[in-house]
Amino acid sequence: MEFSAENAIKSDKGLSKGAKWAVGIGTALAGIVTAGILISKHQVGKLKKLYDENIVFQNLAEKIDFKEAKTVEEGIRFAKEVLKVGDVDKDFTLDAINFANKGLVEVSNANKGRLFMPKKLWYREMGDNTLAGVVQDIESPYFGHLRINKKFFEHETLNEKLNIMLGIGKQKTAAESASKAAAKAPEEFKFVCNLDEKLIKMIERYKQSPDSLTIAEKRELWANLSNALRINENMLEGAPLRTLKNNLSLFEKNGIKVDVDDFAKLTNEKQSEKLKEMFTQLREKLGHQPEIDIPYLSPTEIIHHEMGHLQDFAKNLKELDIKRWKIPSFKDAYNDVKAGKTDTSDVEFVDNRWKGLTYKGFKELFEKNPKKFQKKYPDLYEFLTNQETQQVAGSVSWYAQTSIGEFIAEVYGKMVRGEKIADDVLALYKKYNGPMLGG
Ligand SMILES: [Zn+2]
Repeated sequence: MEFSAENAIKSDKGLSKGAKWAVGIGTALAGIVTAGILISKHQVGKLKKLYDENIVFQNLAEKIDFKEAKTVEEGIRFAKEVLKVGDVDKDFTLDAINFANKGLVEVSNANKGRLFMPKKLWYREMGDNTLAGVVQDIESPYFGHLRINKKFFEHETLNEKLNIMLGIGKQKTAAESASKAAAKAPEEFKFVCNLDEKLIKMIERYKQSPDSLTIAEKRELWANLSNALRINENMLEGAPLRTLKNNLSLFEKNGIKVDVDDFAKLTNEKQSEKLKEMFTQLREKLGHQPEIDIPYLSPTEIIHHEMGHLQDFAKNLKELDIKRWKIPSFKDAYNDVKAGKTDTSDVEFVDNRWKGLTYKGFKELFEKNPKKFQKKYPDLYEFLTNQETQQVAGSVSWYAQTSIGEFIAEVYGKMVRGEKIADDVLALYKKYNGPMLGG
């Protein structure tokens, strides 16, 4: 999930960006480089220490049985003793600590107990949109800690979110808005979603009386309704070519013709438009809205996702962070100065892998100044502009399309749940050196 600005708490003066060495003082080049290396070695050592202290590789039991704790204290003890999480916030509710522990056990078991674990587990307010997060900023005192947003374990927040999704209150009902949208414009096309029976019953109960559902049930319902929306988006917007190929015979059977090769040549956006038109035609032929089945999703998926980030930090961000602080070799620096460059490091190594379009300022720069964006974030630029890459990531989720780091975390979560990973998704995952299960 996304981070809010509050994560970027600077505390360690020794790691301030001021220590970064910029080439450009040509006359004293040799002397500065030497001094630079001394600073750099010190910084690198410090960074390595921070990583080792905060993201710890653990050998847990190969298979851990999860049983819901009866008290908060018991839950915290489980996190510390069985999962070897160093510190846990005391004000966790029973519901929230059981949720966190269950998710962590699932990730650990998928890794046979060999994985990087967070040093601390936090239970705090994190705004309205972020359910959980791992602090990525190495300059933060909370670096590597897993944080869970307590607001998502309160009835008020969950009711608000469910009301919007279920069209309760001022909003139109889901059916109303779906049929109205479909009649009006193809770009608002949405499928009718078939959900697990258990969830349908929850919706009925919720509609009769929101108070009849527990926090855990509301979270389960919210996670699955969000997933249904994501699947709609993936199919229609994220990976339209794949959706077309998967549904080709259905279209043909109903007399809707399309040339797949021509379709493939369109931009993703145009493909998406065309596909929605085709589904609108299909709806007219069938006389009802096409339906899709939504597989059940465990609400602990967010913990799987965040733990994916953590494994990714350990595997890749450590190197990138260290690279950020390393000065260029003397030869490169000398040549750069001779060539008139004042800053040899234009690439934002960490942000290049980790950040993406949902981060502040990224979308604006990407759209307004793609050249500059490309220079700062070359891999991210390639990831965002390569149509095939976008379709592969889009088959996972829209969120996986927004950055390399989110793609990694989304796929990692699927691997933890034992979901099938398509060959092209796995190939892309390996290209970006995504963490594999089992350390
Ligand atoms: Zn994420």
